[in-house]
Amino acid sequence: MSRLAVARVHAHALQANLERARALAAPARVMAVIKADGYGHGLERTARAFASADAFGVAAIADGLRLRAAGFRQRIVVLSGPDAPGDLAELRRLDLEAVIHHDSQLDWLEAEPAGVPLRVWLKIDSGMHRLGFAPAAVRAAHARLAALPGVHPEIVLMTHFAASDEFANDRTARQIAAFEAATAGLPGPRALSNSAGLLGWPAARGDWVRIGGLLYGQSVVEGKIGADFGFTPAMTLATRLIAINRVARGERIGYAGAWTCPEDMPVGVAAIGYGDGYPRSAAAGTPVLLRGRRVPLIGRVSMDLITLDLRGMPDADVGDEVVLWGGGLPAEEVATHAGTISYVLTCGLTRRVLFVEDAS
Ligand SMILES: *Cc1c(COP(=O)(O)O)cnc(C)c1O
Repeated sequence: MSRLAVARVHAHALQANLERARALAAPARVMAVIKADGYGHGLERTARAFASADAFGVAAIADGLRLRAAGFRQRIVVLSGPDAPGDLAELRRLDLEAVIHHDSQLDWLEAEPAGVPLRVWLKIDSGMHRLGFAPAAVRAAHARLAALPGVHPEIVLMTHFAASDEFANDRTARQIAAFEAATAGLPGPRALSNSAGLLGWPAARGDWVRIGGLLYGQSVVEGKIGADFGFTPAMTLATRLIAINRVARGERIGYAGAWTCPEDMPVGVAAIGYGDGYPRSAAAGTPVLLRGRRVPLIGRVSMDLITLDLRGMPDADVGDEVVLWGGGLPAEEVATHAGTISYVLTCGLTRRVLFVEDAS
C-alpha cells in the first residue's frame, strides 16, 4: 500500500501566530520554543517561519547544531542546559545559551577554564519541582555564576509554571510570588511564562516569554482551542478514503471486534493509523472531517488504518480526502477523544507521514 498520510504545515499560520504572541507579550521579548522538532512541525521549517523571534528554545544541543548548520544566527537557548561536562565546549562552539538548573552544572562551569562567555539562564524551582534551584539556593547559585569569567554577565532569571493553564486556581500566583521573593534584588531579565502563562497571568509577563503551543495554534487551556485566543492551527493532517464497505447489522468492526454495527451500514476505511502517529487511544466517536463534515471513527485504530461510520455520508467516495486534524477540526478536540493533549498528537507523527509546506 502506498502511504497517503500528509501533514501540511501552514507557514503563514506560524508567522501570524508569532505576531499574535508578540502583540500579547509586548514589551516582553519572545522565545519561540521549537523543541521536539517544532512540536512535530519540523525544526528548520518552524525556525524559518519564526525567524523574527528574539530567540529559539530547544531541548537538545543537537537541535542547536542543526539550526547553526542550516545557517540560523539567532539566539538559541538549550532549555535543560549541559547534561555532561563536555557539553560546555559544544555550547560555546555553537554559540548556544544554557539553562543552568543544578549544582552539578555549576561544578562543571567552575572546572572549565574561562572560554568565550557563555550566556546562561538561571532556573529557579518556584513550585513545579522538576528542574531548578530551590528558592533558598538561588542567591548562592547566582553568585557562583556571576563570579565566573567564562559566563556572560547578563544572567537571565527564569522559572516554569506547573499549572498556568488553570486560570481559576492560585498555584501560578504562588509560583510568581515564590519566584519574586527568590530573585528580589538580583540583576537580570526575568522569564516566567509559557503559552498559558502568557494568556492567563499578566503579572508574569516579565522581560521574556517562552512560547511553544500557541505558535502552532494550539492551546492547553481546558475547554479552549487556540482559535479562542486568536491563534490559527499550523498543521493539517490528512489522508484518503481507500475503501467503503457495506457491513451487516450485528457484525463487528476491526481488532477485538470492539464496535458492533447497529444496522446494515457503510463503513469507510482511511489510510492512517498509529504507525503514522495517529493515536491508538482515539476512541470510537473521535471525529474526522470528510467533505468538510464530521464523521465518527468506529472500532480500534490499527497500525495503518482506521474505520469510519459513513451512515451520514451517502455521497462519500473512495479517494476522498479525510482530515484527521487541522482547520475545521482542532487537534485539541481530537486529543480530548484520545485522552491526551494536542502537543502529543503533532509531536508524535512518524517518518511515514509526508510533510509538505503550504504557503497558507
Ligand atoms: C516547552 C517549554 C515551554 C513552552 O511551553 P508551551 O506550553 O508550549 O508554551 C516554555 N518553557 C520551557 C522551560 C519549556 O520546557
